[in-house]
Amino acid sequence: MTDFNPAGFRQHFPALSQGQCYLDSAATALKPQAVIDATVNFYSQEGATVHRSQHRAAQTLTEQYEQARLQMAQWINAPRNENIVWTRGTTESINLVAQSWLRPRLLPGDEIIVSQAEHHANLIPWLMVAQQCQAHVVTLPVDQLGIPDISTLPRLLSSKTRLLALTQMSNVTGAMPDIARAVELAHANGTPVLIDGAQGVVHCAPDVKQLDIDFYAFSGHKLYGPTGIGVLYGKTELLESMSPWQGGGKMLTQASMTDFTPQAVPHRFEAGTPNIAGVIGMSAALKWLKTVDMQAAEKHAQHLAALAEEQLAQIEGFRSFRVQHSSVLAFDIAGEHHSDLVALLAEQAIALRAGQHCAQPLMNALGISGTLRASFAPYNNEQDVTRLVVAVKYALDLLAD
Ligand code: PMP
Repeated sequence: MTDFNPAGFRQHFPALSQGQCYLDSAATALKPQAVIDATVNFYSQEGATVHRSQHRAAQTLTEQYEQARLQMAQWINAPRNENIVWTRGTTESINLVAQSWLRPRLLPGDEIIVSQAEHHANLIPWLMVAQQCQAHVVTLPVDQLGIPDISTLPRLLSSKTRLLALTQMSNVTGAMPDIARAVELAHANGTPVLIDGAQGVVHCAPDVKQLDIDFYAFSGHKLYGPTGIGVLYGKTELLESMSPWQGGGKMLTQASMTDFTPQAVPHRFEAGTPNIAGVIGMSAALKWLKTVDMQAAEKHAQHLAALAEEQLAQIEGFRSFRVQHSSVLAFDIAGEHHSDLVALLAEQAIALRAGQHCAQPLMNALGISGTLRASFAPYNNEQDVTRLVVAVKYALDLLAD
């Protein structure tokens, strides 16, 4: 670990040399050169697949692939490598739990508690499985700031509750609910917990063992890794109790025309040729991240969001939805539609996102139709803040004409 040097950190990201002001890291993070190099190297030098062929390159690559699983297990303090399932991302990880773990256990009338602050990826899979089994999704409400109100959990939990699904960090407000308390309350009721770590893992890698989290889902692309690779962490006994979700090559130990025997975990959940380049790139991202003081990096990103909030607050009608010192700054400006503003900002090479951020129930709870969202990462700098503020003022001038 080294001290955090914002200018030095920024230099690792070739995409920033294109001149755009990138404030969309909550959607996806830019990639450091180390990840790009590992991916290019894989495609240019390593002609092989994993867990299949016998030639030397294939064997070496299989070792790298499994070594990356160990790296990932260590990143979140999973007890064993086998607790890590490679998936396409958070969305696939959550759907895997919904279909393979929950669905066979869900009876008519059963309940799944889901917070109102969830990204659709941590809502729709539960609605789907609830519809399939005549079960119900029960809302864990948010407070006035949009933070999941964990104090309501004791009255929501009951003998009918089969799962609690909760975000580690909202992609809109940046709220980080007290997941330790939520897990404690749910477990006292005998209810397993799935935490959506898509945003949270970037800002604070959890200790899944210490927090006693049952399932933890996240995507590589927000953690500086490639797109199309993600992780499902599951406790050993839970993963072992799950049947495969997708069938295909290498998820089985024997097959006949009438039957098959699934592999041990995690391989029974990795049917077909996996995203090897994604795993290699993810491994490079984790290796590179080890050289970064993540806490200091996070503080830098939070400082920039605070600065932007402070400067934009001088604009009449500005309203911020940012909570808990987050690096995510969702905001709106009274009388202006976010879609108009984002289009004018895009013309000035300011990359941010506007809309409902795949969190319509949260928008409803906050009583809004959408927001602009500037999400800061450690590779941003104060110049980016200035560019954003100047661009917003310019866009407002244009709209006023
Ligand atoms: N949950 C949260 C909180 C997110 O921000 C996202 C990505 N926007 C997801 C889930 C879904 O991630 P992915 O699209 O990578 O599967």
